[in-house]
Amino acid sequence: LPKEFIVAQPILAKLEAAGYEAYFVGGSVRDTLLGKPIHDVDIASSAFPEEIKSLFNHTVDTGIQHGTVMVLNQGTGYEITTFRVESTYTDFRRPDSVTFVRSLEEDLKRRDFTINALAMRYDGQVIDLFHGLDDLKNNVIRAVGNAEQRFTEDALRMMRALRFSAQLNFNIESDTRKALIELAPNLEKIAVERIRVEFEKLLLGAQAANSLKIALTSKVMNYLPGPAIRNWSLLMDDLEHDQASNYMVAWVHLLVRAGFDKNQLQQFMYDWKMSRDVMKAANAVVPLVNNLKNITVFDIYQAYDHHNTLLEVLRLTGRDLETIQRISHIIKMLPITKNAELNISGGQLIRDGVIKPGPLLGNLLKKIEYAVVIGELPNNYEALKKFAKEYLNGQG
Ligand code: ATP
Ligand code: MG
Repeated sequence: LPKEFIVAQPILAKLEAAGYEAYFVGGSVRDTLLGKPIHDVDIASSAFPEEIKSLFNHTVDTGIQHGTVMVLNQGTGYEITTFRVESTYTDFRRPDSVTFVRSLEEDLKRRDFTINALAMRYDGQVIDLFHGLDDLKNNVIRAVGNAEQRFTEDALRMMRALRFSAQLNFNIESDTRKALIELAPNLEKIAVERIRVEFEKLLLGAQAANSLKIALTSKVMNYLPGPAIRNWSLLMDDLEHDQASNYMVAWVHLLVRAGFDKNQLQQFMYDWKMSRDVMKAANAVVPLVNNLKNITVFDIYQAYDHHNTLLEVLRLTGRDLETIQRISHIIKMLPITKNAELNISGGQLIRDGVIKPGPLLGNLLKKIEYAVVIGELPNNYEALKKFAKEYLNGQG
């Protein structure tokens, strides 16, 4: 058992001692059985929220209406969710209501895929009601129960099938794949934010290229946000070789390869409801990468918040080593990385009587910044002040 499970054992044991059932469930069980590192430990129990709260001294109501109580144990919080079923999905998105139940089977039945419907007792014993172990062994993603029905209940599961396939290098079983093709249009009804989470995980997965191919052939891609990307093959070829190290790089890389014009680029980011951070990085890096030949030292300087993203995207797009080295050399050699590093300020120039406040001052500072960045001027006050005086003389 992984250490994350070992430290949580007392919690499960305590629930059992009180007459309830309690199991590790979800991704942590799947990843443990695959020998992969786990990130969050999910615990499910037959105990109802109030029963959990009365059993442990330190609890927090993190999501009590969904049946989740956090139990604090030696500084770590564990989310314990009461076994539950979800009743009719009228809008293809969210269950209309959740009902707490005492039966593990009912709880596992509502889960998306057999590999995600395994439970593990605190002693390591696995409960496998849907042949999830076979599917784990055979690298298969298979819906629990009837795939069509499960994707009709919640269309997001189709995105999840693709992202697990990208992350785990698993095949999507044929009935599940058929349902995916048939029900892909339902994805239009899912909140963009939820789709984005799964799509980002897909892009970062080791087999992202393969999953994108499935998303294309099953037409899932037609129902995702944003203007259509006409040429996916550039992106997929890149992703055959390597993947981005974070979602910001993943999006910027995709946007470099999408071949969008300015409007399409903005529309795509808007439709996907991308975060400010991603938008900033994309707006700084995409034009640079698409116009490498004419890139100037000052262009690179202006993208200073995004140098790591720039270099990683260059690597992903398979730029020759020489280009990458040239640009990383420029980055390393930049005399300053932001204008606050200039050894001169408007205030200083005014105090020294070089210039009066006004519009000319802004222009002057921009000139100075440019000259320092491209190496025309040393970044020291006396030299910059001299330059300022000469510039102002020139202005008459
Ligand atoms: P990850 O390692 O990325 O966290 P995960 O399998 O733990 O993967 P989560 O989104 O954290 O995925 O969900 C935890 C568990 O809840 C899943 O393993 C699955 O059993 C269940 N689950 C999550 N989302 C759905 C869904 N849309 N439909 C059915 N079951 C779901
Ligand atoms: Mg999880």
